[in-house]
Amino acid sequence: MAVRAVQSYTEGHWYTSSGGREAVASAVTGEIIAEIGSDGIDFGAMLRFARATGGPALRAMTFHERALMLKALAQAVMARKEELYELSYPSGATRSDSWIDIEGGAGTLFAYASKGRRELPNERLLIDGDTELLGRAGTFVGQHVYTSLQGVAVHINAFNFPIWGMLEKLGPTLLAGVPAVVKPAQSTGYIAEAAFRIMIESGVLPAGALQLVSGKTGDLFDHLTAQDVVAFTGSARTAMLLQNHPVIARESVRFTAERDSLNASILGPDATPDTPEFDLFVKEVAKEMTVKAGQKCTAIRRALVPANLINAAQEALSARLAKIKVGDPRDESVRMGALASRSQLLDVRSRITELAKVAPIVFGSPDDVPLTGEGLSGGAFMSPILLRTDTPWKATAIHEVEAFGPVSTLMPYDGIDDAIALANRGMGSLALSVVTHDPDVARDVILTGGAWHGRILFLDRDCAKESTGHGSPLPVLIHGGPGRAGGGEEMGGIRGVKHYMQRTALQGGPALLSKAVHQQLPGAPTAEGDRHPFRLTFGEIEPGYGIRTAARTVTLEDIEHFAHFTGDTFYAHMDEEAASKSPIFGGRVAHGYLILSFAAGLFVDPAPGPVLANYGLEGLRFVKPLKPGDSMKAVLTAKSKSLKTPEMGEVRWHVDVSNQDDELVATYDLLTMNAV
Ligand code: NDP
Repeated sequence: MAVRAVQSYTEGHWYTSSGGREAVASAVTGEIIAEIGSDGIDFGAMLRFARATGGPALRAMTFHERALMLKALAQAVMARKEELYELSYPSGATRSDSWIDIEGGAGTLFAYASKGRRELPNERLLIDGDTELLGRAGTFVGQHVYTSLQGVAVHINAFNFPIWGMLEKLGPTLLAGVPAVVKPAQSTGYIAEAAFRIMIESGVLPAGALQLVSGKTGDLFDHLTAQDVVAFTGSARTAMLLQNHPVIARESVRFTAERDSLNASILGPDATPDTPEFDLFVKEVAKEMTVKAGQKCTAIRRALVPANLINAAQEALSARLAKIKVGDPRDESVRMGALASRSQLLDVRSRITELAKVAPIVFGSPDDVPLTGEGLSGGAFMSPILLRTDTPWKATAIHEVEAFGPVSTLMPYDGIDDAIALANRGMGSLALSVVTHDPDVARDVILTGGAWHGRILFLDRDCAKESTGHGSPLPVLIHGGPGRAGGGEEMGGIRGVKHYMQRTALQGGPALLSKAVHQQLPGAPTAEGDRHPFRLTFGEIEPGYGIRTAARTVTLEDIEHFAHFTGDTFYAHMDEEAASKSPIFGGRVAHGYLILSFAAGLFVDPAPGPVLANYGLEGLRFVKPLKPGDSMKAVLTAKSKSLKTPEMGEVRWHVDVSNQDDELVATYDLLTMNAV
């Protein structure tokens, strides 16, 4: 096999380091397969290029345009996924390990592409929360907004998921409009480089949006500025080293870290060996130990069971682990491949030695494993290792030492409070799972454990079939955890995008601010014209344009007719005596839905036109009841709009319904889909 020279991508060009390259060996055979190095890169110039070229190009795009770009990147990766599967075998990954990396990575981009278009406006800024009235007369208001940071996101990634680890950070970053410099771990950098190359070759990225450092980061940190972000995944040691770089403190550079984590799984006190939960627990622990050879930041390192079940759990787990075939990851019968490198193997062995002093090995041997396949003697293989302690509060190391491989420690607990305290003893984790069918146990765990864990999976017979498992971070949920886990948060849907944006509180008059942020804010002047708002195409509608309707009286006959027609004969509308005793109504009142229906009757323009559909109301509040004989009128005002496809876009209208005394009766946003 030819030795691959892993390249960097700087200032729009591929770059091969002429010297100082480190050899990368196959984790399966031990032969040298790649060389990687970054000597000679001008890191300052790289960052300047991103800020001067990539940033402005990305910021000129709307969220929807960036989301479409992410979709195209994901499609490009999927179209060439077989190249990536092929390239991943030497890292020790089986095909199903690589599925998480490759298709899981592309899936994360797809998820961000879809969320970006569904949940973000087709805009370049993001409005955050409601407008705050800051003066009595309503001429001075406050509004929070998010805008893209104007620097570079520096992503430093771990070796275990070279593609997913890159893409889960890039999704939110690019959607936020921020260019990135990606630095993969060297041992699997050749895989990250191949996926990166596919994205560059797709041609959908503006120049400067993405750059790659294959090798060391040199003096890159010296060139960071206040608008940059560092997102790190890896060991606590490196995280601390980087976080303490003087430039990070001096420039207040945002720094998030995903570090090692001693994740726990608890077998609930209700889950005896005759329950489905017991089997689910055993399967989950065995799976987390062996998928990707246990090299998952979220893997279960500590398995907690009720004290009286520890022997049963050990037996069941050992039986399951005994079925795992270890060896050549290309062999379809093999369940577990190799660790990512020989140095990882040595590292994991030495951690096991440390752990075994307090928790003896009860399954497997760190130095010996029967292998399936040929020519594997130079590989980084290890058997799954189960350790056990019966005194978990004394065995300090099991809560402090992470063996980043197929290793887990079984331990007993005495009551659910003890179990939660032991789980929390990891001092901050990415993921906790509790296999229980008892909601009271779940509530205890949430209240007493929530603060120590970034994600909690409650696994039981009802959700097992669809469960994504203990160890899978998902793009829609946050990935990160407190304390030892690094204190960071990634993904979490649109939450993750905001890590790469600045929140600013705007203050000013509603008229000026509305025009500036392209959204009608409360108190801004409205406009009425000759044309009914529903006769305007999407492109013609301006926020603030609207209509004030005539008034109509709501009679008792209207209310009774509506009640019988809809079947809603609730006493407040139909029974004068009962309604008169109501502390809220003091007599019969119109249905809320009648008010909405009459409001539509007042403002709708019926003929076919650019309004294609009404597809919902948001923020509906009934503020004051309407009594028989009261009159009502509506004000409908365009609030904001967002193009959804080239043919149509969503218009958000604000509707206020008031009575004859101009008191607010109902208020809501109405969403219509309009032709462009
Ligand atoms: P490291 O901290 O050594 O490496 C992580 C990344 O940091 C790599 O890209 C590495 O690059 C880079 N790096 C190392 N030193 C520096 C430096 N001085 N300046 C800039 N970058 C640097 O972690 P490991 O490789 O040992 O990874 C294994 C550990 O990571 C595990 O113990 C595990 O706990 C943790 N991990 C955590 C995950 C999470 O999501 N929380 C996920 C995966 C792993 P290079 O390869 O060039 O050294």
